[in-house]
Amino acid sequence: MRVRLAPSPTGTLHIGTARTAVFNWLYARRLGGQFLLRIEDTDKERSKPEYTTNILEGLQWLGLQWDGEPVIQSARISEHRAAIEQLLASGHAYRCYASEAELTAMREQQAASKQAPRYDNRHRDLTAEQQQAFIAEGRQATIRFRIDDDATITWSDLVRGEMRWAGADLGGDMVIARRAAADQIGDPLYNLVVVVDDAAMAISHVIRGEDHIANTAKQLLLYQALGAEPPVFAHTPLILNQEGKKLSKRDGVTSVSDFRQMGYTAEALANYMTLLGWSPPEGMGERFSLAEAAAAFSFERVNRAGARFDWDKLNWLNGQVLHELGPEALRQQLLPLWAAAGWPADSSGISADPGWQLQLCELLGPSLTLLADGVDQARPFFATPALNEAASAQLELEGARPALAALLEQLPPGALEPDQAQALLGEAATAAGVKKGVIMKSLRAALLGSLQGPDLLATWLLLHRCGDDRPRIARCL
Ligand code: GLU
Repeated sequence: MRVRLAPSPTGTLHIGTARTAVFNWLYARRLGGQFLLRIEDTDKERSKPEYTTNILEGLQWLGLQWDGEPVIQSARISEHRAAIEQLLASGHAYRCYASEAELTAMREQQAASKQAPRYDNRHRDLTAEQQQAFIAEGRQATIRFRIDDDATITWSDLVRGEMRWAGADLGGDMVIARRAAADQIGDPLYNLVVVVDDAAMAISHVIRGEDHIANTAKQLLLYQALGAEPPVFAHTPLILNQEGKKLSKRDGVTSVSDFRQMGYTAEALANYMTLLGWSPPEGMGERFSLAEAAAAFSFERVNRAGARFDWDKLNWLNGQVLHELGPEALRQQLLPLWAAAGWPADSSGISADPGWQLQLCELLGPSLTLLADGVDQARPFFATPALNEAASAQLELEGARPALAALLEQLPPGALEPDQAQALLGEAATAAGVKKGVIMKSLRAALLGSLQGPDLLATWLLLHRCGDDRPRIARCL
């Protein structure tokens, strides 16, 4: 059992391609098969090496390791040409001398009479004299593969069941090699090269997006003409945006590297992509690892309907993954991000101490959705924040400043225990004649510059360990 991912390096790793990779990987792992990679770089103008790098890095980051070396499609051009020669020799393909202008006129005429655009097979059966005449004119030729209108193409799709296409719906004889001098073979095109390569790589299952269904019908005809055994096909549903349309670049974030940069973890993104079109069996829940998904994966549970992209679910999964990490692993992940933000500023200070950082991670962990939240929320711990409007307003309340002043007066210089801290709050409130809620809110305002944030007592104890609570309170008096 061998599957493959065949990305074109004409852009960064798109979420749709990555999801196709996930399904291929899961199926291969489920059946103990091989997951191969083929870089389809035959579009010389649009393919770029940096996109190949981005795709390989993205797949590795997601944990979708492929087997063996990636096959580079452009290196196989002589095999592609040989297949075209075979098709020319067997009469399945022929040269079409129709010029671009002629084909445009043909399509305009079809549009004017409300016909679907198709090649009208005008050069399918040229006589030797007609061909000679075109060649004498110096015309170039494409190479076309015959698609008989009365052909019926059927296959049993692992997702969509019995499929049936009429040859007449495939747009006429298809171009398999670009225009070139009449005695040459021009650049071979997608449908031909995919079939030649999938056959050569002995691919047993082709799993790809449903936008390739019409290509599958054409490719099956090519397998037949080349005398090759076709693979089993599985066409996965499209990923849709909020409006129910196919997710495209216009939807903003669509590439795996974008999600990575936004602070999504590979684990959560891979988990989420698995849910885009696949329903896990009852009782499995929605949070699982790729390995767990592989053990349960089947195409029976892949939906035919498009899968709507759900940011809330992705965020929820990412939060789950961050919580599961535990404080030390979270600290390891956050350290480089903190360093990039310039923290801790002083390597001799307590905030550079792993123990202190661990406590910070324990405190922040439960409220993180994105790794980047671990930077935003850590900010007021590493650097004294200015007071926001709500915090300033809090300090204007009657008794707020006297309560903080009383607290500051009682604050011990050394370590502070939770019980002791609680007691100090109570005493300060009594001294200032305010409710305990007032001193607590005021203390939060002084420490974090905001009325929002994690558990107050833990926040205070952490800042007290740095000696930062005293100046933060003092600045408010
Ligand atoms: N290079 C094609 C694409 O990226 C491959 C499609 C296929 O899997 O055959 O759409």
